[in-house]
Amino acid sequence: MSEEVDVLVCGAGVGGLATAAAIGALGATVLLVDKLTRRPPIAKGELLQPGALSSLREWGAEEILLRQGACALDRLSIRAPDGESLLALDYAAVLGPKERLLAADHQTILDALEATLPGNVTIRRGVRVDRLIRDSAGRVAGAHIQQPGGETAVRARLVVAADGIGSKLRAEAEMGGKRAEYAHRLLSFEVAGEYAGELSAYVTERGLRLVYPLPGGTTRVYTQVGPDELRGIGHVGLVGWTHRMVDGVPALDPMRDGLVAALAGRQLLPVPRFLAPSLAKPGLALVGESAHAVHPMAAQGMNTAITDAAALADRLRAVGGFAAADVDEALRSYQRERMPMLEHIATVSHNAARMITDVSPLGRLLGRTLMRNTARNPRLLAATCHNMAGVDVRPLRLTDRFYQLGLLRDANAQVIAR
Ligand SMILES: Cc1cc2nc3c(=O)[nH]c(=O)nc-3n(C[C@H](O)[C@H](O)[C@H](O)COP(=O)(O)OP(=O)(O)OC[C@H]3O[C@@H](n4cnc5c(N)ncnc54)[C@H](O)[C@@H]3O)c2cc1C
Repeated sequence: MSEEVDVLVCGAGVGGLATAAAIGALGATVLLVDKLTRRPPIAKGELLQPGALSSLREWGAEEILLRQGACALDRLSIRAPDGESLLALDYAAVLGPKERLLAADHQTILDALEATLPGNVTIRRGVRVDRLIRDSAGRVAGAHIQQPGGETAVRARLVVAADGIGSKLRAEAEMGGKRAEYAHRLLSFEVAGEYAGELSAYVTERGLRLVYPLPGGTTRVYTQVGPDELRGIGHVGLVGWTHRMVDGVPALDPMRDGLVAALAGRQLLPVPRFLAPSLAKPGLALVGESAHAVHPMAAQGMNTAITDAAALADRLRAVGGFAAADVDEALRSYQRERMPMLEHIATVSHNAARMITDVSPLGRLLGRTLMRNTARNPRLLAATCHNMAGVDVRPLRLTDRFYQLGLLRDANAQVIAR
């Protein structure tokens, strides 16, 4: 059996759905497939940054999220365990009165993206992409898929690998990259009740405690745990562990009982880090976690998957066609323009994660110093806000690192570029 489309997208997570929405809006015929018949109920990615929201607005997904009760958050604060603010990124003040984060359930975000897909996009679940098809010159020209009716050869001018961090297509195309793991995990709680009005990252002796509101009057809490910290401790042990965790963060005391009650639905997640060395080969593009994974605390991964999709569609729009030569030209500029941005996001996310999650005495001292000097410097604070929001991104220079470490005095600390 065989089929022909302009674009075959492998994987219907955020990256694949955003790609189908963005490229579908150009009028191309798109086939989007996912090997799973149902989405797993994993809460991975609930915070949407202004940069990604501008694309969601364009595709009509932001409006759906707002109708579904998404929570608008205008600040991201790093706090001491007692709640004292150490560093605050005020999105509305720095980026403009309308700019904010949105918090929504991961499944609601996926549903909103799916609802925006135009009629020229077909979505099929329970369909696995098996292996790539190449033409006589070695260019990727489609893929074999396994669907209920049997194996089908899908010919496509462009194949998009949105198949997650373990991407089979990236491996088959020999695009390399090595996954690393942070030395800790994240334990996630969904607590009944409204305990937060903003995104707060508490820096504690035991690392990160991240708290933010979700729609429906619930609160998300991520706590950093050592790789073996919870091994074999059982329910009673976990309850004791939760009380000790709250004892270390008095600001969380009001939700103590809620955290204990939420233990039954907890999720323990590993925290990988990855950046593929390249994003495209003739006929094939990587989008989302097939290309990059960063620490969740900076809330960049899902947002970057969305902006990857928008960037790829933008390059395809610029070449104006879906002939193989046009697609390959668009892929070259996607690689050239997007790669530096992904390297920057990987650096920003890793530095932010280290600043908060490093529990060694030296790491904690360094983190405090970086936070204090950034908080005192309006120019660096504004640049950090832009970088996290993904709006008018301003990579920090080497001298900025010296200012953050307090090794140099910044004569331009008050000068904020517009
Ligand atoms: C705990 C946690 C919290 C996070 N919080 C945030 C946040 O607040 N903000 C943020 O921006 N990011 C966040 N992230 C990151 C975010 O979840 C990911 O960056 C994003 O979900 C990646 O989406 P994706 O579509 O690239 O990959 P995935 O979600 O992994 O989707 C890949 C899809 O491909 C399918 N697939 C795989 N192989 C095949 C195949 N051979 N054939 C067909 N289908 C296939 C899979 O079934 C899957 O549906 C968080 C991550 C974690 C773990």
